[in-house]
Amino acid sequence: MKKAFVTKEMIAEITKTYPTPFHIYDEKGIRENAKALKEAFAWNKGYKEFFAVKATPNPFLIDILREYGCGCDCSSLTELMLSEAMGMKGEDIMFSSNDTPAQEYAYAAKLNAIINLDDITHIDFLEKTIGYIPKTISCRFNPGGYFAIANSIMDNPGDAKYGFTTEQMFEGFRILKEKGAENFGMHAFLASNTVTNDYYPTLAKSMFELAVQLRDKTGAHISFINLSGGIGIPYKPEDMPNDIRIIGEGVRKVYEEILVPAGMGDVAIYTELGRFMMGPYGHLVTTAIHEKHTHKEYIGVDACAVNLMRPAMYGAYHHITVLGKENASCDYKYDVTGSLCENNDKFAVDRMLPKVEKGDYLVIHDTGAHGYAMGYNYNGKLKSAELLLKEDGSVQLIRRAETPKDYFATFDGYDIYNQINF
Ligand SMILES: *Cc1c(COP(=O)(O)O)cnc(C)c1O
Repeated sequence: MKKAFVTKEMIAEITKTYPTPFHIYDEKGIRENAKALKEAFAWNKGYKEFFAVKATPNPFLIDILREYGCGCDCSSLTELMLSEAMGMKGEDIMFSSNDTPAQEYAYAAKLNAIINLDDITHIDFLEKTIGYIPKTISCRFNPGGYFAIANSIMDNPGDAKYGFTTEQMFEGFRILKEKGAENFGMHAFLASNTVTNDYYPTLAKSMFELAVQLRDKTGAHISFINLSGGIGIPYKPEDMPNDIRIIGEGVRKVYEEILVPAGMGDVAIYTELGRFMMGPYGHLVTTAIHEKHTHKEYIGVDACAVNLMRPAMYGAYHHITVLGKENASCDYKYDVTGSLCENNDKFAVDRMLPKVEKGDYLVIHDTGAHGYAMGYNYNGKLKSAELLLKEDGSVQLIRRAETPKDYFATFDGYDIYNQINF
């Protein structure tokens, strides 16, 4: 059974200050998980997690991860700026972008971030943009085809826009070496939201084998291998959670089988996890405001896809708990909807829940990553607040809710402010 980290009583208290909808994050859960990750890879001297900022771009939360040695993985200008403003040093920032604008490469280089190139043509593009090739540089690898573990297909890299082909990795390393690169990194992200302890070890094995060949054939000194993101979380109650200790040990085993005998026992392992670091430790809390009985049974809530887009975008499952009714039997079948003028604005379709009454608080689980962050402003809906449930039980506002003023702020030259009473 999936259990919420808040109770009805807690939310009744919190809503006296902060109205629903809001995202709330669990500091205790974030800390315990970050600590477990750090311990799972402690065997590797250079190990570092670069948190994928895009998953949850909130400096209050990233500051917690920093206490466990995490840096930032950025994919855009504003993510770089956020990391810079937090005082991240160059080597604490991985810039893993794609289709990268020149301005963003320039900014990353100015920060001395580690640049992870997405394509062989970006070698020239980067050199023309910043005037040199950094001494430390990384290339993103995409072997094509299907990514399978024990004959079961996990994902389809052959259809993904990212990365260098195998041949391009060799060619790219040669060119970069000629241009003065000294420390090489490799990166690959071949399957998303994997709920198996075998993803990282399987990926690591193929990366390590390629690393040995790249070193042998190009003479490049490989200083790190970045296993990127992709470790999943149990969105569904029946999903088994990953065990990060088993994953860390699995990577260690192939490291000792392949890299150590090849004289590459000094290679650092990097990760760029987003979902795994934050996903389970966020809830979207919303209030049931309407019930509707037509061709189906609907519960209308005060959140919508603007607050959490994954169900509308991918049909993703997010578990729902009706607070105060945790132990009631789930005898009612509902579509739980938001208010957008889009029929896919549904947090759940045909979901069995306890009887929901107006005023009930619903917790939508696992919104800590790719939740708030994916939000948008369709229908002129405003983005919610983000709250942090601290270890001592107190609640801190870590991002206020948008106001209509924020929404209208970009109409330069059209004076909305003075026409309306906000
Ligand atoms: C999205 C992304 C991540 C994080 O992915 P998760 O599935 O959240 O772990 C890491 N690296 C890159 C380059 C990404 O695009």
